[in-house]
Amino acid sequence: MRCPKCPGVLETHTYGRKITVHRCDHCHGLFCKPDVLLEMKREWMSEIVLDSGDAKIGRQYNELDNISCPDCAVPMDKVFDKHQTHIWYESCAQCEGMFFDAGEFSDLKYDTLMDRVRDFVKGRRPDT
Ligand SMILES: [Zn+2]
Ligand SMILES: [Zn+2]
Repeated sequence: MRCPKCPGVLETHTYGRKITVHRCDHCHGLFCKPDVLLEMKREWMSEIVLDSGDAKIGRQYNELDNISCPDCAVPMDKVFDKHQTHIWYESCAQCEGMFFDAGEFSDLKYDTLMDRVRDFVKGRRPDT
């Protein structure tokens, strides 16, 4: 598959038994399906291994929109994460594929962990 954002090629990477993503060999953007994204959020260290791109470069590619799905060639929608509205990614209405620029998945996962920690701390604090 060709990268939708740059002249690079999307290469297949696997992590554990359930995770298969496609990562661009040039801009290091990640293309995956929602069920895989859930597994990636669950899997310890997956962001280090899979989201190995430079977030600075990822931010430059984040400016690019109006891209087409690398899988089905239909225009992708620009959507933001419900919980972390600063994270924008592209989503395909046809195959539900998602494209994250380098660093965006780490951002998504890190914030998810931090939210969990905050919830935990809040839950443990005694009422006064
Ligand atoms: Zn690329
Ligand atoms: Zn698609």
